[in-house]
Amino acid sequence: MNDIEVVSFDADGTIVESSYVHSFWFQALPKLYSEKKGVEFEEAKEILTDLYNELGDEDIRWYQPEYWFKRFDLDRDPGDVIESIQVPENVKLYDDAVDVINQLNGHYRLIVTSNSPRIFLDYALKGIEKDFHKVYSCVSDFGEVKKDETVYRRVTDQLGIKGEAMVHIGDHWRFDYEVPRKIGINTFYIDRKEEMGQDTDKGILRDMRKVIKKIKE
Ligand SMILES: [Mg+2]
Repeated sequence: MNDIEVVSFDADGTIVESSYVHSFWFQALPKLYSEKKGVEFEEAKEILTDLYNELGDEDIRWYQPEYWFKRFDLDRDPGDVIESIQVPENVKLYDDAVDVINQLNGHYRLIVTSNSPRIFLDYALKGIEKDFHKVYSCVSDFGEVKKDETVYRRVTDQLGIKGEAMVHIGDHWRFDYEVPRKIGINTFYIDRKEEMGQDTDKGILRDMRKVIKKIKE
Protein backbone atom coordinates (compact mmCIF):
# COMPACT_ATOMS: atom_id res chain seq x y z
CA MET A 1 0.00 0.00 0.00
CA ASN A 2 1.68 3.18 -1.15
CA ASP A 3 1.58 6.56 0.48
CA ILE A 4 -0.30 5.69 3.65
CA GLU A 5 -0.04 8.60 6.06
CA VAL A 6 -2.72 7.91 8.63
CA VAL A 7 -3.85 4.73 10.37
CA SER A 8 -7.25 5.01 12.01
CA PHE A 9 -8.72 2.65 14.60
CA ASP A 10 -12.22 2.15 15.88
CA ALA A 11 -12.16 1.87 19.71
CA ASP A 12 -14.77 -0.51 21.21
CA GLY A 13 -14.26 -4.07 20.05
CA THR A 14 -11.15 -3.02 18.12
CA ILE A 15 -8.63 -1.58 20.63
CA VAL A 16 -10.66 -2.05 23.81
CA GLU A 17 -12.78 -5.05 24.73
CA SER A 18 -16.49 -4.25 24.50
CA SER A 19 -16.99 -5.49 28.07
CA TYR A 20 -16.19 -1.99 29.29
CA VAL A 21 -19.16 -0.24 27.64
CA HIS A 22 -21.28 -3.38 28.00
CA SER A 23 -21.02 -3.09 31.76
CA PHE A 24 -22.82 0.24 31.45
CA TRP A 25 -25.52 -0.79 28.95
CA PHE A 26 -26.17 -4.30 30.24
CA GLN A 27 -25.39 -3.99 33.96
CA ALA A 28 -25.52 -0.47 35.38
CA LEU A 29 -28.41 0.87 33.29
CA PRO A 30 -30.71 -2.19 33.65
CA LYS A 31 -30.02 -2.12 37.40
CA LEU A 32 -31.22 1.49 37.63
CA TYR A 33 -34.20 0.68 35.43
CA SER A 34 -35.17 -2.32 37.58
CA GLU A 35 -35.01 -0.19 40.74
CA LYS A 36 -37.02 2.60 39.18
CA LYS A 37 -39.73 0.44 37.63
CA GLY A 38 -39.79 -2.33 40.23
CA VAL A 39 -38.99 -5.16 37.82
CA GLU A 40 -36.40 -7.94 38.20
CA PHE A 41 -32.92 -7.20 36.90
CA GLU A 42 -33.05 -9.93 34.24
CA GLU A 43 -36.36 -8.63 32.96
CA ALA A 44 -35.02 -5.08 32.92
CA LYS A 45 -32.07 -6.30 30.86
CA GLU A 46 -34.39 -7.89 28.31
CA ILE A 47 -36.59 -4.81 28.09
CA LEU A 48 -33.58 -2.55 27.56
CA THR A 49 -32.02 -4.86 25.00
CA ASP A 50 -35.26 -4.72 23.01
CA LEU A 51 -35.38 -0.93 23.27
CA TYR A 52 -31.74 -0.59 22.17
CA ASN A 53 -32.44 -2.80 19.15
CA GLU A 54 -35.63 -0.94 18.33
CA LEU A 55 -33.82 2.40 18.20
CA GLY A 56 -30.76 0.94 16.45
CA ASP A 57 -27.15 2.03 16.18
CA GLU A 58 -27.73 4.38 13.25
CA ASP A 59 -29.57 6.75 15.57
CA ILE A 60 -27.24 9.03 17.51
CA ARG A 61 -29.45 8.77 20.62
CA TRP A 62 -28.54 5.06 20.86
CA TYR A 63 -25.03 6.11 21.98
CA GLN A 64 -26.07 8.84 24.41
CA PRO A 65 -26.50 7.87 28.07
CA GLU A 66 -28.36 11.17 28.69
CA TYR A 67 -31.08 10.18 26.23
CA TRP A 68 -31.79 6.89 28.03
CA PHE A 69 -31.69 8.47 31.48
CA LYS A 70 -34.28 10.98 30.36
CA ARG A 71 -36.38 8.36 28.61
CA PHE A 72 -36.47 6.16 31.72
CA ASP A 73 -36.93 9.16 33.97
CA LEU A 74 -33.90 8.23 36.10
CA ASP A 75 -32.87 10.72 38.73
CA ARG A 76 -29.17 9.86 38.71
CA ASP A 77 -26.50 11.82 36.87
CA PRO A 78 -25.24 9.73 33.92
CA GLY A 79 -21.70 10.96 34.54
CA ASP A 80 -21.71 9.60 38.11
CA VAL A 81 -23.01 6.23 36.98
CA ILE A 82 -20.43 6.00 34.20
CA GLU A 83 -17.71 6.93 36.66
CA SER A 84 -18.72 3.96 38.79
CA ILE A 85 -17.85 1.52 35.97
CA GLN A 86 -14.60 3.30 35.20
CA VAL A 87 -12.29 1.05 37.13
CA PRO A 88 -9.07 -0.28 35.59
CA GLU A 89 -10.24 -3.93 35.67
CA ASN A 90 -13.17 -3.01 33.39
CA VAL A 91 -10.90 -1.76 30.61
CA LYS A 92 -8.98 -4.44 28.75
CA LEU A 93 -6.94 -3.60 25.69
CA TYR A 94 -6.45 -6.22 22.99
CA ASP A 95 -2.83 -7.40 22.87
CA ASP A 96 -2.72 -7.43 19.08
CA ALA A 97 -4.02 -3.85 18.93
CA VAL A 98 -1.43 -2.66 21.44
CA ASP A 99 1.32 -4.35 19.40
CA VAL A 100 0.10 -2.72 16.18
CA ILE A 101 -0.09 0.72 17.80
CA ASN A 102 3.44 0.35 19.20
CA GLN A 103 4.88 -0.85 15.90
CA LEU A 104 3.25 1.78 13.72
CA ASN A 105 3.76 4.66 16.10
CA GLY A 106 6.33 7.10 14.76
CA HIS A 107 5.87 5.85 11.17
CA TYR A 108 2.29 7.01 10.60
CA ARG A 109 -0.13 9.42 12.22
CA LEU A 110 -2.33 7.20 14.35
CA ILE A 111 -5.90 8.28 15.09
CA VAL A 112 -9.06 6.91 16.64
CA THR A 113 -12.39 7.30 14.81
CA SER A 114 -15.09 6.06 17.16
CA ASN A 115 -18.83 6.35 17.68
CA SER A 116 -18.33 6.12 21.41
CA PRO A 117 -19.22 9.31 23.30
CA ARG A 118 -16.22 11.08 24.77
CA ILE A 119 -17.21 10.23 28.32
CA PHE A 120 -16.59 6.53 27.52
CA LEU A 121 -13.82 6.99 25.00
CA ASP A 122 -11.37 9.06 27.03
CA TYR A 123 -11.37 6.57 29.87
CA ALA A 124 -11.06 3.59 27.52
CA LEU A 125 -7.91 5.07 25.99
CA LYS A 126 -6.37 6.26 29.23
CA GLY A 127 -2.67 5.49 29.18
CA ILE A 128 -2.43 5.06 25.40
CA GLU A 129 -3.96 8.39 24.38
CA LYS A 130 -0.50 9.87 23.86
CA ASP A 131 0.07 7.41 21.00
CA PHE A 132 -2.66 9.11 18.96
CA HIS A 133 -2.36 12.23 16.89
CA LYS A 134 -6.15 12.72 17.21
CA VAL A 135 -9.01 10.93 18.93
CA TYR A 136 -12.35 11.57 17.23
CA SER A 137 -15.62 10.81 18.95
CA CYS A 138 -17.95 11.16 15.96
CA VAL A 139 -20.97 11.35 18.24
CA SER A 140 -19.52 13.99 20.59
CA ASP A 141 -17.30 15.94 18.19
CA PHE A 142 -19.40 15.95 15.02
CA GLY A 143 -22.88 15.16 16.38
CA GLU A 144 -23.03 12.33 13.84
CA VAL A 145 -22.76 8.57 13.67
CA LYS A 146 -20.11 7.22 11.29
CA LYS A 147 -22.87 5.55 9.29
CA ASP A 148 -22.12 7.42 6.09
CA GLU A 149 -19.00 8.68 4.41
CA THR A 150 -19.53 12.34 5.30
CA VAL A 151 -18.13 11.67 8.79
CA TYR A 152 -15.02 10.05 7.34
CA ARG A 153 -14.67 12.91 4.90
CA ARG A 154 -14.67 15.34 7.81
CA VAL A 155 -11.83 13.37 9.35
CA THR A 156 -9.72 13.23 6.18
CA ASP A 157 -10.40 16.94 5.53
CA GLN A 158 -9.30 17.86 9.03
CA LEU A 159 -6.12 15.84 8.56
CA GLY A 160 -5.57 17.32 5.12
CA ILE A 161 -5.34 13.96 3.34
CA LYS A 162 -7.19 11.98 0.69
CA GLY A 163 -9.08 8.84 1.65
CA GLU A 164 -6.48 6.74 -0.17
CA ALA A 165 -3.81 7.91 2.29
CA MET A 166 -5.66 6.40 5.21
CA VAL A 167 -6.17 2.93 6.63
CA HIS A 168 -9.10 2.28 8.95
CA ILE A 169 -9.55 -0.82 11.11
CA GLY A 170 -12.72 -1.71 13.00
CA ASP A 171 -15.21 -4.37 14.06
CA HIS A 172 -18.44 -3.01 12.54
CA TRP A 173 -18.88 -4.33 9.03
CA ARG A 174 -20.81 -1.36 7.73
CA PHE A 175 -19.52 1.56 9.79
CA ASP A 176 -15.87 0.54 9.77
CA TYR A 177 -15.46 -1.51 6.62
CA GLU A 178 -17.98 -0.61 3.91
CA VAL A 179 -18.68 3.07 4.59
CA PRO A 180 -15.11 4.47 4.73
CA ARG A 181 -14.27 2.40 1.63
CA LYS A 182 -16.66 4.65 -0.34
CA ILE A 183 -14.18 7.52 -0.18
CA GLY A 184 -11.14 5.41 -0.95
CA ILE A 185 -10.04 4.63 2.60
CA ASN A 186 -8.26 1.27 2.85
CA THR A 187 -10.40 -0.63 5.33
CA PHE A 188 -9.84 -3.76 7.42
CA TYR A 189 -12.38 -5.68 9.44
CA ILE A 190 -11.16 -7.20 12.68
CA ASP A 191 -12.76 -10.60 13.20
CA ARG A 192 -11.04 -12.18 16.21
CA LYS A 193 -13.95 -14.55 16.81
CA GLU A 194 -13.69 -15.80 13.22
CA GLU A 195 -17.33 -15.16 12.43
CA MET A 196 -16.72 -14.14 8.83
CA GLY A 197 -15.43 -16.35 6.04
CA GLN A 198 -11.80 -17.05 5.33
CA ASP A 199 -11.45 -14.41 2.67
CA THR A 200 -8.58 -12.43 4.10
CA ASP A 201 -8.00 -10.76 0.73
CA LYS A 202 -11.15 -8.79 1.40
CA GLY A 203 -9.42 -7.22 4.36
CA ILE A 204 -10.65 -9.48 7.13
CA LEU A 205 -8.14 -9.82 9.94
CA ARG A 206 -8.16 -12.57 12.57
CA ASP A 207 -5.26 -10.92 14.32
CA MET A 208 -4.61 -7.22 13.90
CA ARG A 209 -0.86 -7.73 13.61
CA LYS A 210 -1.47 -8.93 10.04
CA VAL A 211 -2.31 -5.38 9.04
CA ILE A 212 1.30 -4.26 9.44
CA LYS A 213 2.50 -6.39 6.54
CA LYS A 214 -0.44 -5.28 4.41
CA ILE A 215 0.28 -1.62 5.00
CA LYS A 216 3.94 -2.08 4.12
CA GLU A 217 3.24 -4.15 0.99
MG1 LIG B 1 -16.46 -1.12 17.44
